Amino acid sequence: MTEVRTPTAGTLLRREVEGLPAYDPGADPDEVARASGVTPVIKLSNNESPFGVSPTVTAAVSGHLADIFRYPDPTGKRLAGALGRALAVPPERIVLGNGSENILELLCQAVLDPGDLVVTQAPGFSLHDIFPSMMGARVEKVPVTPEFGFDATAWKQALAACPKLVFLANPCNPTGAMFARAELAQIVADTPPSTLLVLDEAYHEFARPNPEYPDGLEMLRDIDRPWIVLRTFSKAYGLAGLRVGYGVASSTALVRALDRVRTPYNVNRLGQEAAVAALGDQAHLAETVRRTGLEIARVAGRLRAAGLRVAPSSTNFLFIDTGRSAHEVALQLHRRGIIVKAWREPGYESFVRASLAAPEQNDVFIERLLDICGRRAQ
Ligand SMILES: *Cc1c(COP(=O)(O)O)cnc(C)c1O
Repeated sequence: MTEVRTPTAGTLLRREVEGLPAYDPGADPDEVARASGVTPVIKLSNNESPFGVSPTVTAAVSGHLADIFRYPDPTGKRLAGALGRALAVPPERIVLGNGSENILELLCQAVLDPGDLVVTQAPGFSLHDIFPSMMGARVEKVPVTPEFGFDATAWKQALAACPKLVFLANPCNPTGAMFARAELAQIVADTPPSTLLVLDEAYHEFARPNPEYPDGLEMLRDIDRPWIVLRTFSKAYGLAGLRVGYGVASSTALVRALDRVRTPYNVNRLGQEAAVAALGDQAHLAETVRRTGLEIARVAGRLRAAGLRVAPSSTNFLFIDTGRSAHEVALQLHRRGIIVKAWREPGYESFVRASLAAPEQNDVFIERLLDICGRRAQ
């Protein structure tokens, strides 16, 4: 990498930025297609929905193409109103983001001073670490148990240090596992009143049918402490390419604080229209969730039957122990036109994260993965 230097001396970059790792989006599909000669490639690296969007979304996007010369509504009134009605919260307590990642970033910009403590989970979502580090905060990671579960003692200890911010993904990315009701309740109870509790529910819609899954908004709704629940249209609703996420906050004051660091037109016009339409077709969402659940169970079942260890998933992806270097496994899959994400966090270097594609493509993935891992399909 070339360094960015001033003409005189030293670097132009803030110290925090120099040390930041680059976000790893996974291999580029065009490059994998070229190198492997396989088209289309099977892309399992970004937890996208293979079940497409509601036809009402396509209609809304086409119907608003003529308006794209205008800036979007900077307050997202219609979308915030629709979300407020769907969730029974005042729209003033809703913040919209260019993806929920954008809200993670806004939260860090609004509350973190250099040296502040942030607690999150390991293995975890890289932006829960990268954004705080960008602000000069210290990030402490609470490990999951060997069974990908909640480590109550480790969480209690970490929270006792009074972090400024807690980033908790439920269900968790990359493991796909979820905190059960009592576990989340304990975290809420142990989080000091001076801590901002951020519950990242990017996979909420997939987990919701499970009676053990705690809806974070329902749990926090009446609790008087600073919190925000983040959700997204990227995953179950299938709008990843349009970048729309939202947060429901404990107070309008928190939303107004985020507004001060937010670029005013952060959610694009077509994205706002598409999200309103997507929210209006709950039947499509339910069908996506149903098919995802069946397919996740089928794929996980076949991998486990062949002897691979797979974390329990309440999401649209699987965390798979390949028993060898995940980096090597991913490269071999790339050569065969399949993109997965090899995990790099310490202790998980043999794991790949793979989301779903269409069932026939998932079968190709299973066959090639088992072949690379020297396992026999059962
Ligand atoms: C995918 C994901 C997000 C956000 O995605 P956006 O597309 O920015 O809405 C946030 N958190 C986790 C844990 C995710 O996996």
